[in-house]
Amino acid sequence: MSTLVKSSYLSIMPFLNLIIHFLKWHNFLGIELVLGTRVKSADVRRQTLLTAAGETISYKILIVATGARALKLEEFGVSGSDAENVCYLRDLADANRIADVMQSSVGGNAVVIGGGYIGMECAASLVINKINVTMVFPEAHCMARLFTPKIASYYEDYYTSKGVKFIKGTVLSSFDIDSNGKVVAVNLRDGSRLPADMVVVGIGIRPNTSLFEGQLTLEKGGIKVNGRLQSSNSSIYAVGDVAAFPLKIFGEIRRLEHVDSARKSARHAVSAIMEPDKTGEFNYLPFFYSRVFALSWQFYGDNAGEVVHYGDFSGNTFGAYWVSKGHLVGSFLEGGTKEEYEAIAKATSLKPAIEDLAELERQGLGFALAVSREAVQSPPPAVVNQSSGLVLEKALYPWHATAGVILAASVAAFAYWYGRRRRRW
Ligand code: NAD
Repeated sequence: MSTLVKSSYLSIMPFLNLIIHFLKWHNFLGIELVLGTRVKSADVRRQTLLTAAGETISYKILIVATGARALKLEEFGVSGSDAENVCYLRDLADANRIADVMQSSVGGNAVVIGGGYIGMECAASLVINKINVTMVFPEAHCMARLFTPKIASYYEDYYTSKGVKFIKGTVLSSFDIDSNGKVVAVNLRDGSRLPADMVVVGIGIRPNTSLFEGQLTLEKGGIKVNGRLQSSNSSIYAVGDVAAFPLKIFGEIRRLEHVDSARKSARHAVSAIMEPDKTGEFNYLPFFYSRVFALSWQFYGDNAGEVVHYGDFSGNTFGAYWVSKGHLVGSFLEGGTKEEYEAIAKATSLKPAIEDLAELERQGLGFALAVSREAVQSPPPAVVNQSSGLVLEKALYPWHATAGVILAASVAAFAYWYGRRRRRW
């Protein structure tokens, strides 16, 4: 974690700084970047934002991308979040802090509170960095929001083989804190006490909607938007973790917490604003993934209905399908190839009818591969238009690459020219 998070941030920081100079100096593309400024309140009727510094910003169109905040232990009646060795992971400052605390905890004990994404990904990074890990969470198995007990048991066994300990079905009740303000032990509701050199807390998030409460319609904890990512006030769009949008494929409003949904909803909102006549309804196929140790999984769709597991759970490649109302609605795959992941995405987006669960289990991954191959040979029109589908993504790769090369070359040329000018000033 420390190496990964820090090195990726460090490697992009000089580049980001350069771009920020570029944007500021040139007002490039008409973007004015206002940093270090907190919006204190919003007046939706007057179309204004008030900053903490007392400035008023007017807008014609507003895109809300306020994301979410990490839930604090205090919200569950436990105090001690501000202890110097209790870590959350939501922003860059959190990442830097966690990396620092890890460095001083090598060879010691970490308690990870929560068995979701943060818990699982941090636990893996902690043991890789030679810290003993105990995970504590209230459910019967890890990643309870998504994994079946069978899938969870594979990952828990794998983690156990790496030295991670699991304490399930309980939560923490208090911390023992020493005279320096450091947590030295975690007390659990089941009465056990875990010595700790550091604690990582990943117990979920809450969308940052407070600026708009009472002014916009909220749903599923987020800002309710339509298929154009437009809120109950037509001048305001919402994207990412904070947006509750109509998930066309399943005919219901959902708020999704994932980077892929954030990127694609943002892209769609911009398209709806810039090219309203050419932009249809957001048609997104939910996509989640994680990579830990040598493992890597992807999930598409919905984990609703009956589950069919497939593949070799004692090996490296296995998965599951979810079938609801006679149709495939969700697919999970661990250890797949790029083609196999694309196949489960494609098959899930097509929602093929499933009559025989036993036959689906027998065909396993072969089913998704066959369905996607068939679709490539005779693509149904409904899929071609999907803004979320991998097909569209693939077609954009050359453009992304070309745009990336042009941007990098422009930034490099600008940096060279800017550096020379600065020396002359
Ligand atoms: P999460 O919702 O994935 O998991 C929360 C976990 O905390 C669950 O296991 C839950 O049972 C447990 N929990 C809740 N209350 C608890 C308590 N009092 N004591 C102990 N455990 C408790 O949330 P997260 O792991 O905190 O992740 C935060 C956000 O970051 C999520 O939106 C997640 O999707 C996102 N994220 C995603 C990825 C990824 O997509 N690979 C990686 C990291 C984070």
